[in-house]
Amino acid sequence: MTFDSFLPLTDDQRSVRDLAREFGASDITPHAERWDREALFERSLVEKLGALGFLGMLIPEEYDGLGLDTVTYLLALEEIAAADASAAVLMSVHNSLPTQMILRWGSDEQKERFLRPMARGEKLGAFALSEPDSGSDAASLSTQARRDGDDWVLTGTKAWVTSGTHADVIVAMARTDTADDRKGARGIGAFIITPDLPGFHVGKKEDKMGLRSSPTVQLVFDELRVPAANLLGDVGSGFIYAMQSLDHGRLGIAAQACGIARAALAHSLSYAEGRTQFGRPIKDHQAIQFKLADMASRVAAARAMLYGSAAAKDRGERITMYGSMSKLLASETAMWVTTQAVQIFGGYGYVKDYPVERLFRDAKVTEIYEGTSEIQRIVIARELYATQ
Ligand SMILES: Cc1cc2nc3c(=O)[nH]c(=O)nc-3n(C[C@H](O)[C@H](O)[C@H](O)COP(=O)(O)OP(=O)(O)OC[C@H]3O[C@@H](n4cnc5c(N)ncnc54)[C@H](O)[C@@H]3O)c2cc1C
Repeated sequence: MTFDSFLPLTDDQRSVRDLAREFGASDITPHAERWDREALFERSLVEKLGALGFLGMLIPEEYDGLGLDTVTYLLALEEIAAADASAAVLMSVHNSLPTQMILRWGSDEQKERFLRPMARGEKLGAFALSEPDSGSDAASLSTQARRDGDDWVLTGTKAWVTSGTHADVIVAMARTDTADDRKGARGIGAFIITPDLPGFHVGKKEDKMGLRSSPTVQLVFDELRVPAANLLGDVGSGFIYAMQSLDHGRLGIAAQACGIARAALAHSLSYAEGRTQFGRPIKDHQAIQFKLADMASRVAAARAMLYGSAAAKDRGERITMYGSMSKLLASETAMWVTTQAVQIFGGYGYVKDYPVERLFRDAKVTEIYEGTSEIQRIVIARELYATQ
């Protein structure tokens, strides 16, 4: 069940989606179970995604990207997620956060040095906002940046950095205000960090429930010396840049969640045809039919919300509320649909012989990262009053 005929897509959008679907089927799905079991990050996947242009989808052609619209990017991302959610998160973070931040607020020199190779997939990007003691309340972060001559010196620990073990370019947020002159969210800068800088260390690697082939790590900045030329945009605007980029990032996570949910539905449809109990395929039991009908309806609704929001973004509209609604609806759909899928598989859904067990574990994080479901509801409620 692909819902292919539902959205009004152009021929170009269809062909990019089909390319992503074929690549997922040939180069990702056959390995996803092993990558998960071994918690293996396959670097060659980055090279292959780069060769297809999938790591520069939203970057203009003048910087070696594909310069595509948001709808096309999300269609490709959903297909990669349907093949493997871990592969999708590296693609989502890279395309939505560090590259978009450098594109929007970077200097010409930063675009040449960092954006161009990122667009080609030669350099992988990561985004480091969270810290051990600041997650939802991200503006309370404590990593400190101190100006010293031509450098900034950063001290602190960033947490939960997706692709942090292998990233070549990390956009990290750190306080640029001082202990005597705290400016809250307006006292945070965004810095372009490379792992070769003195004082950069990869810390604890998280042992996660799902997304096991996407490495998530702490990054420790121990008097990390960052050239002043690596400051992104204005000195106290890094948090605002990060929040604006997350509007975009949330659509990526929604696409990832839709891909997971769609895959769980597809596996359930085929299992329900093949599994016989009480003398007939379980798909002929009405209780199972109702589950499948509800799963398909919720996936279709989540996708409609997602691509409606993406089309609004492509028209240049502000999508803070719709981005949060898309992420909330899609992530809760992914969790619900994968739960139903495990139920349809019965005991076989609870073991690793079938993919729905992995999909169920992978779905959970979509309700947590890039803003938990509670935070999305806070954003939506605030926007409801702001836009009245
Ligand atoms: C696999 C994974 C990958 C990640 N990748 C990245 C990354 O690449 N870069 C990055 O910067 N971060 C990343 N994160 C961090 C992620 O964004 C945070 O985990 C998330 O924002 C929640 O923060 P927290 O875990 O500190 O939870 P907390 O903020 O401590 O929240 C705990 C609970 O309290 C609730 N809560 C908090 N405040 C409120 C409130 N005001 N009202 C109601 N409820 C509230 C939350 O919803 C949650 O249920 C990743 C996380 C994971 C698990």
